Amino acid sequence: MMFAPHPQGLGLKPVCLLLAVIAFVAPAHTQNLNVTLLGTGNPRPSVQRFGPSMLVEAGKQKLLFDCGRGATQRLYQLQIPFAEVTALFLTHLHSDHIVGIPDLYLTGWIMGRILPLQVWGPAGTRQMMSHLEQGYEFDIHIRRDVDEKLPGQGAVVVAKDINQGVVYQHGDVKVTAFAVDHGLVKPTFAYRVDFARHSVVLSGDTRYSENLVRFSQGTDILIHEVLDPEAYSAADQVFSPERKVGSLFSHCARRCSEPGRSHAKNLFWTAGSGRRPDEPRNRREN
Ligand SMILES: [Zn+2]
Repeated sequence: MMFAPHPQGLGLKPVCLLLAVIAFVAPAHTQNLNVTLLGTGNPRPSVQRFGPSMLVEAGKQKLLFDCGRGATQRLYQLQIPFAEVTALFLTHLHSDHIVGIPDLYLTGWIMGRILPLQVWGPAGTRQMMSHLEQGYEFDIHIRRDVDEKLPGQGAVVVAKDINQGVVYQHGDVKVTAFAVDHGLVKPTFAYRVDFARHSVVLSGDTRYSENLVRFSQGTDILIHEVLDPEAYSAADQVFSPERKVGSLFSHCARRCSEPGRSHAKNLFWTAGSGRRPDEPRNRREN
């Protein structure tokens, strides 16, 4: 991940390799907006980067955005109580963004969640989550009805297929979903979280998107996915046409900083499709 210089009051704190915390420190603790990049990887099963997932802590609310491989381990590593993680927002249904859901769903229940897991995402989310409940029916039955007698509500999923617009409003926290351009993967959403006069925009997977610029107007942080086309030969099919990561950085940064455009105060990049030098090269990058 690369990041732009940040002004006073905005910190980027590495917790471990490619796990980072961005925090606004407000006078009252309950007014803090913390953003933690739990994973910044891609389908490659990297134990350093894990899969795409971001935790947004808005006051006492803990919202998870995407649930890629390792998200549950990262939450455990940070000692985030699973009982408090009840809201999951999906940008799209590519497997690397959702493959960690069963772990969050079931381990989170076993380790303390007593409320339903609420999931918002594009068309297909409700059906997918319903199938997930059915797929783990045996384990749920044993733990709920026979053995541990875990609270049944913790094994319930409340999933909703969403459209562009405000999808969540609870207390002072507002989450707005908006469409971005992930090529043939439609719909794909980005999210904006507003809380206590702070805001963060999470791009999901997208090439340059005017809608992303529009919804990023005045935001404090824009976290934008980028890729390394040299490690991803099919990049032009689904992502930005830029040939070099550097040119993508500069292109987005320039466009986002043009008068009348996003005016995002800080840009953070998650290099979603890059390959670390010490990682093996697959025959087929995907
Ligand atoms: Zn994708």
